[in-house]
Amino acid sequence: MHIFNDVVKLQLALDSYRKKNETIAFVPTMGGLHEGHLSLVRLAKQKADKVVVSIFVNPTQFGENEDFDKYPNTLSNDKSLLIDNEVDVLFNPDADRVYPDGFATDIKLDSTEGILCGASRPGHFQGVAQVVKRLFDIVKPDVAIFGQKDYQQLLIIKQMVKNLSLDIDIKSGDIVRQKSGLAMSTRNQYLSTNEAITAANLYKILNELKQGYLNNQQLDLLINQAKKQLEHHFKLDYIEVLDANTLRQITDNTHEIAILSAVFLGPVRLIDNIIFRRKNV
Ligand code: AMP
Repeated sequence: MHIFNDVVKLQLALDSYRKKNETIAFVPTMGGLHEGHLSLVRLAKQKADKVVVSIFVNPTQFGENEDFDKYPNTLSNDKSLLIDNEVDVLFNPDADRVYPDGFATDIKLDSTEGILCGASRPGHFQGVAQVVKRLFDIVKPDVAIFGQKDYQQLLIIKQMVKNLSLDIDIKSGDIVRQKSGLAMSTRNQYLSTNEAITAANLYKILNELKQGYLNNQQLDLLINQAKKQLEHHFKLDYIEVLDANTLRQITDNTHEIAILSAVFLGPVRLIDNIIFRRKNV
């Protein structure tokens, strides 16, 4: 695996692939790698000739009181996982390479930026869009892979690619979970053993909501019930049941439904979602 922190050296290597007509799949991450990330790497390998992974903890997507300063750094373990998974290139830049002096972007996002995670993390998706656009400009991938785990992020990036007419195919990978059902996340490292057991209730409750909905129970009642259950274990940020394509209220034209939730457990904010096809539509 080639490792670069310099943009120009990275681009020379990527140009040499392109000269041989080799396609490039890109998986952006913030490190602290786990099976969820590695599943995206494996998907990337199916989609292109060469796989580039970035590890960059992007300061602009963290809020003031968030965990930027203590975000897990497991770089040497990450490198061996990437080598085991036959990644071709790791791009691991410092912040001043990603954001050189005077760098400025203002990417226009649609109104879904301000709902769900965007409501409790103001500016977060602006930071995400900024770094993803910058990394796309540097890597110029044919395909880029994102996890359904960050479902709102996935839709915002798809929208950005469409708005800017970028020639990049955005693919998504399913959520990888622990046996307990807890969605894998780098931040799960912050959980104690007992908290990790409690955390598994999030997926359980979302799944019960889905089953209730598919059994034709009334949605309002199901959401209220899920709220109560979530509040029993967590401090609730939000739980919403929306059209999965628009993140707006369900209408007669809705074909896919998204159940999305974020909760706090101690200092950790957990997010999860379930996307499924609506019955009889
Ligand atoms: P992060 O390192 O948290 O920025 O995540 C990098 C990529 O991995 C994003 O596209 C995430 O959506 C994805 N990802 C994170 N956790 C999971 C998971 N449990 N299953 C699948 N993809 C994930």
